Amino acid sequence: MTDREADVLVVGAGLAGLAAALRVTASGRTVRVLEASDAPGGRMRSDRVDGFTIDRGFQVLNTAYPELQRLGLPEALDLRAFLRGALLRGEDGLHLVADPRQAPLGAAGLLTAPLGSASDRAGLAAYLAQVTLVPAALLRRGQDLELREALRRRGVAGDPVEHFLRPFLQGVLLERELTTSSRFAAFVLRTFARGTVGVPAAGMGALPAALAGRLPPGTIEYDARVLAVRPGEVDVDGGETRRADAVVVAADPVTASALLGLRRPAMHAVTTVWHAVAAPPTRRPVIALDTAGGPVANSVVMTNAAPTYSPDRRALIASSVLGPEPLPDPVLRATLARLWGVGTTMWEEVAVTRVPAALPALPGGSPLRSPVRLREGLYVAGDHRDTPSIQGALVSGRRAADAYLAGR
Ligand SMILES: Cc1cc2nc3c(=O)[nH]c(=O)nc-3n(C[C@H](O)[C@H](O)[C@H](O)COP(=O)(O)OP(=O)(O)OC[C@H]3O[C@@H](n4cnc5c(N)ncnc54)[C@H](O)[C@@H]3O)c2cc1C
Repeated sequence: MTDREADVLVVGAGLAGLAAALRVTASGRTVRVLEASDAPGGRMRSDRVDGFTIDRGFQVLNTAYPELQRLGLPEALDLRAFLRGALLRGEDGLHLVADPRQAPLGAAGLLTAPLGSASDRAGLAAYLAQVTLVPAALLRRGQDLELREALRRRGVAGDPVEHFLRPFLQGVLLERELTTSSRFAAFVLRTFARGTVGVPAAGMGALPAALAGRLPPGTIEYDARVLAVRPGEVDVDGGETRRADAVVVAADPVTASALLGLRRPAMHAVTTVWHAVAAPPTRRPVIALDTAGGPVANSVVMTNAAPTYSPDRRALIASSVLGPEPLPDPVLRATLARLWGVGTTMWEEVAVTRVPAALPALPGGSPLRSPVRLREGLYVAGDHRDTPSIQGALVSGRRAADAYLAGR
């Protein structure tokens, strides 16, 4: 057992824990981060497999996230950008629907893609314009419903939902039914329209690595699993009790709720299969979506945006399905062959990343923010306290630290 060793103990070195630690450190107080694994990042880590960079599930960051801007991070990460748009697989081929400022032919896809009648398209365009252009405060104040109900009430239904919004959003929200908070979905669409989406040249793990690198050396203690928490103290695996003024629990949502006796949030799962191929099915850095509602949520040639993900000239393709298990290999190959319109028998499987607890559900009607102060000396942070996103995780960590610093 040791005496009080820092002003704040943070449990977990994911984005939320790192953001909390940075905020506490910036105020001149001391912090110690206890992390169960051997590196920072939590759900956002990258591994090297046969020289390829493999993120723990396909994910991207968006320069329009206010918290990334606040931390000055987009500049620090050598971001490799994807096109703002998608390749939509229709019966008659692939349609590029993209921001014409980035891809001159992208707007034409809006006319040819299977998005329904002229009035269907106008309804979709009006909805997208509204979520992109109105002040954020208005979006935040709006009524929160399940997204499918909010779209129905706006008259956005049929082809625009089935052939664009559902295929696109399922890969972000990690659920197909569109029962997620309509306000959160509006923010997701807004950030996609306003920001640049990409991956750091060195993989998504570069983001937490950059945050960890800003902490004083030795702040993070690895292989330190916390087994119990109380205000101002924690028990670590191995029998030690560690003390501080306050504890911020920034473990993943399932562990945090077990440690704190909170309601366990439902979690969405995703599985990504990574293939190396000699010749990519497209040279465009853009995600492909299946408008026919097939089992693959999305597929993207990572190396078209970030050639750094490959050790040689082979392309790396990430294809994701919702749920904790991959599709049987022949089904996956047949689905990808239809999606991309190419043969896939020669695609070489490099890795499979299963993430059974990828994102906490945020159903319609949920608050976009939950309290981070539980009682004096005990705080909680993580994407389950804000929105299930990089932005939500970072902002929750800052909020928890601010609450402690304000003595609230
Ligand atoms: C596959 C996938 C795709 C995603 N795609 C996107 C995307 O495109 N855009 C986006 O904005 N967001 C995306 N996200 C969400 C984003 O990655 C998460 O919201 C964010 O990383 C969560 O950070 P966190 O700090 O809240 O939690 P975590 O990352 O879960 O961090 C918790 C940390 O606590 C540690 N820990 C757990 N238990 C203990 C314990 N007992 N003692 C000590 N340490 C402990 C863990 O090891 C971990 O390091 C995606 C997530 C996944 C998994």
